[in-house]
Amino acid sequence: MSRLDSFIRRLLAQRACLDRAAVLVGGVPGPVVELGLGNGRTYDHLRQILPERRIYVFERAPAAHPLCTPAAGYLVVGDFAETLPGAVTRLGGPAALIHADVGSGDETANARLAAWLGPLIVPMLAEGGIITSDQRLTAEGLAPQPVPAEADKGRYYLYRRT
Ligand code: SAM
Repeated sequence: MSRLDSFIRRLLAQRACLDRAAVLVGGVPGPVVELGLGNGRTYDHLRQILPERRIYVFERAPAAHPLCTPAAGYLVVGDFAETLPGAVTRLGGPAALIHADVGSGDETANARLAAWLGPLIVPMLAEGGIITSDQRLTAEGLAPQPVPAEADKGRYYLYRRT
């Protein structure tokens, strides 16, 4: 598979998991949290599929196009290690959905980040809430969920808070 094929499959898996997550949180109250603004692509998708939800974005180096940058008050700038502890107060309550798209090309760094991110974000999530992530997460209180058929196994992950 070429790197182009792989990139396209990753994006298909990502969109399929975001769309599935939006359905799964239908009965769960609370805002949406986007970890990693990047180019703002998935933020833009989330605001289209969940137009009634508040969406808070956490990012250490915002550089997205202004049209895909959250309004003041909804963009939290800084490293996750500093901005996520206590973030539930800012959200006004636990989140229904957390999307963590935080990886880079460095697999070792990704694994290190995923190891501390999982336990940090589970307490931000409402009971029954969903995390969808580009990284495999392991944390107490997270139950893996099946990904949609169009998402290749191991490319994107879905979890429900038990
Ligand atoms: N979802 C984005 C999109 O669709 O355009 C792409 C996100 S990109 C893959 C990952 C983002 O996570 C980068 O913008 C990076 O700066 C951010 N990030 C990674 N580790 C971080 C950390 N420890 N604290 C804050 N932001 C971080």
